[in-house]
Amino acid sequence: MKIVVLKFGGTSVGTIERIKKVCKIILSFKKKRYKVIVVTSAMSGMTNNLIKKSLEISKNFEPSEYDVLVSSGEQISCALISGQLNSMGHKSRSFLGWQIPIITDNNYKNAKINFVNVRKIKKILSNGIIPVVAGFQGITENDKVTTLGRGASDYTAITLAKYFLAEKCIIFTDVDGVMTTDPRNYNKAKKIRTISYEEMLEMSSLGSKVMQSNSVQEARLNRTDVLVKSSFKKGEGTLITKRKKIKNYKIITGISSTKNDSKITMLGVKDKPGVAAAIFKPLSKNNINVDMVVQNISADKKETDITFTIKNENTLKTINLLKNSNKFKYDKILIDKNVSKLSIIGVGMITTPGVTYRMFQALSKKKINILVISTSEIKISVLIKKSNLKRGIQALHKEFNL
Ligand code: ASP
Ligand code: MG
Repeated sequence: MKIVVLKFGGTSVGTIERIKKVCKIILSFKKKRYKVIVVTSAMSGMTNNLIKKSLEISKNFEPSEYDVLVSSGEQISCALISGQLNSMGHKSRSFLGWQIPIITDNNYKNAKINFVNVRKIKKILSNGIIPVVAGFQGITENDKVTTLGRGASDYTAITLAKYFLAEKCIIFTDVDGVMTTDPRNYNKAKKIRTISYEEMLEMSSLGSKVMQSNSVQEARLNRTDVLVKSSFKKGEGTLITKRKKIKNYKIITGISSTKNDSKITMLGVKDKPGVAAAIFKPLSKNNINVDMVVQNISADKKETDITFTIKNENTLKTINLLKNSNKFKYDKILIDKNVSKLSIIGVGMITTPGVTYRMFQALSKKKINILVISTSEIKISVLIKKSNLKRGIQALHKEFNL
């Protein structure tokens, strides 16, 4: 049985007109003799609307009820798709998470899938019926509805591709594929034809919104080929796959960036064991995600400076936590709320010397000052002033011929 999983995002199913279009795409795969499993998001705007309603009741809306509420958007879209396929004379049936069931842990709002029972869907596939599965939702062992995190209908699709040993998983969206950088920052951004899981993971966790990073990780673990393409126009899209399958690597595959970052510097903290842990402990207890961290080598072995970055929304809370802790001393805290992290990503840099130099040189030619640097095997990130971001992206795009 040749199986394909087709996932449609919110804008792809945003109107009845769009849903009719999507059904034509589904049927084109049926015609090619694929057994098709469809996964759908809610119609665009729907999930946000439902969340807004919960907030009108309470900021602390009961998480288990929140999941019942926000998962309802997908119930509408999967039924509309199945209904349309039926009215075109094809057999189709919608499935909610609990009907399959897709079993998750009980971490409401952000549950992980533990198990998918394939029995019912296998049966209807072999009867020539097209299953249309509501993405983003599951059920716990105790029959409580869960959701899998924002954007997680991708995660549903990739997990189904694994359980059904699908030949591939195609993510239909409103862009042509994964771009070398966000076209809103640089209008000469190009579509990437193939990208490795590792690079895509970096891209999605560093700010590229095309795919949810959990989903990419899931695809990587299972070695599932994922094709990201537009449901609006024809085109080949971007293939996310294993490194071995990629020929002709460029040194750098993509550039990503963040906005709304803050840089916090603590001057004159004691240079002794346990201080860094004491500083970051209250932050971690309050679920504040710390991104880049640098500590200077202290000249006198007594005092040093620690700099780290966080999201702007956490700045106030972080400062309060630091000021109210009596576990460490410092001279002064400096705050800069107008910084951005700019990163270049590419497995090609593992084998190519001089990439760091080229990046720094290209930025210096544009008189862009680098505030913080961090690197991993396949990425180099620098923190710069937010106002320099677009010029920085342009300079790097040109430097590495993307
Ligand atoms: N509808 C959900 C959301 O907006 C899931 C998804 O679109 O992937 O987050
Ligand atoms: Mg999405």
